[in-house]
Amino acid sequence: MSEPSIFTRILDGEIPSEIIAETENAFAIRDIAPRAPLHLLVIPKTDQYRNVVELAAGDPELMAELVGLANTLAAEHGDGDFRLVFNTGPNAGQTIFHVHAHVLGGALEEKSVG
Ligand code: 5GP
Repeated sequence: MSEPSIFTRILDGEIPSEIIAETENAFAIRDIAPRAPLHLLVIPKTDQYRNVVELAAGDPELMAELVGLANTLAAEHGDGDFRLVFNTGPNAGQTIFHVHAHVLGGALEEKSVG
């Protein structure tokens, strides 16, 4: 069996991190190294999907739930507007292979991508 991910260990209370929201299937924490005034991570409780491609194919309802939770939290913790980022693969900066959405808000350095 593979080692539990950092996020599973946070959910299980083995690594300290305040869980700022929790639903039946997902939870959210603040990123330990924020890259924006608001930088949250929205994470499915299951670790069976390594990235957003696997999640969207395997459980689109859970994918939609993550987007909804991101929206709720962006309104609760920021001005309601947000950027949702799923780093996918190491060359794109992914370091934890338990799918998670970065919820970025506040005064973002770049106004848009592309
Ligand atoms: P990735 O690089 O995989 O897209 O995102 C992983 C994110 O998890 C990074 O932004 C990193 O700062 C954050 N992170 C890594 N370890 C911890 C931790 O122990 N606690 C919290 N709150 N965030 C973490």
